[in-house]
Formats: sequence, C-alpha cells, structure tokens
Amino acid sequence: MAVRPVRIYGDPVLRQKARDVAAVDDTVRELIVDLRETMKAYNGVGLAANQIGVPQRVLVIEVPIDEERRVRLALVNPVIRERHGSESGEEGCLSIPGVWEDVTRAQKVVVEGLDGEGKSVRVEAEGYLARALQHEVDHLDGVLFTDRLSSLKRQFLRRQLEALARGELPEDYRPPRAGGGAKSRSAASWSRW
Ligand SMILES: [Zn+2]
Repeated sequence: MAVRPVRIYGDPVLRQKARDVAAVDDTVRELIVDLRETMKAYNGVGLAANQIGVPQRVLVIEVPIDEERRVRLALVNPVIRERHGSESGEEGCLSIPGVWEDVTRAQKVVVEGLDGEGKSVRVEAEGYLARALQHEVDHLDGVLFTDRLSSLKRQFLRRQLEALARGELPEDYRPPRAGGGAKSRSAASWSRW
C-alpha cells in the first residue's frame, strides 16, 4: 500500500489505452488501495490506473453528494453503456496541474463493470458523478479532458501544456510526499480527477 507519484501531461502512459483486467485478484485489489491512497494524498476526487503508471482498466472515485456524504466507487473494466443529455462544467486533472476549463459531457450515464470484489455492477449517475466517471473512463482510453476542448481553447493552452510536457510544473504545485496523509481539501480540489 502506497501513495504513488501521479504521472503528468507528456508522460506516454497517459496516452496508452489501458488493458482490460483478466481477473480481480490480490494484485488488482492492492492497485485499488494504492489508487485510493494516492487520490486522497493529492486531494483528488478520482484517479485512473494509468495516472499512476499502470495501464489497466481500473478507476476510483470519491465525490461529495452533500456536506457529509460521499460516493465511493472502485470500478474494474468500466464501460459506458448509456449517455443522456449534455451539460457543461468545469474540470481539472491531477495529471494537468494548473489547468481548469469547462467541458461539455453527457449529463447522465450508465456505467457497467466490476467492483473491487469482481462482482458485476451497474452505476447510474448524473451531474458531478457522471462527469467524474466520463473523465476517468476517458483516461483509460488515453484521452485527456483538454482533448475535448475547442481547437481555439487548445491553441490557447498549447504553451502551458508544452511546458508541463517538458517537466515545468506550476510554481504552486506541491505533490504529497510518499506516506503523507490527506490534507484538507480546498474548493478547487473538488474538480480534479
Ligand atoms: Zn484526470
């Protein structure tokens, strides 16, 4: 169990289409634990396995429903079966620090996959949770949220993204140290997956 470094824009693993998991065994369960610990340490609300360098179709999500309750999900081999409606909302990404933009996505989705025990699950989600699921499934396909912006917006972000790819991180970027616990979440952290 460990907090692993989150891979940053420009790392080829983020562009790899992750492979289906053959069986939910101990290795996959350990991966889920690491994903959850890493997500919390980085104050994220979702994380896909290739963001920590493992190109397998596994994602975790923990998003707020209200002040006290959260939806906590681990999905293996997730597939988006249905998409309904469309909605624009702000997104950021742990792999693209310093960039937040509005992205248009389906308002509701139905996702099927396996849970952390290997059982089939079907998740019906809307709004924020639906957005998080679409963002993470995109990661597993090697797609980043910046790919979904208009060409004008992408052009506007080009230099910022090129700098990240060269390893130039924003001045205020503070990755957690290995073993460090979760810090308090700032408002902006709710839109980082
Ligand atoms: Zn992301």
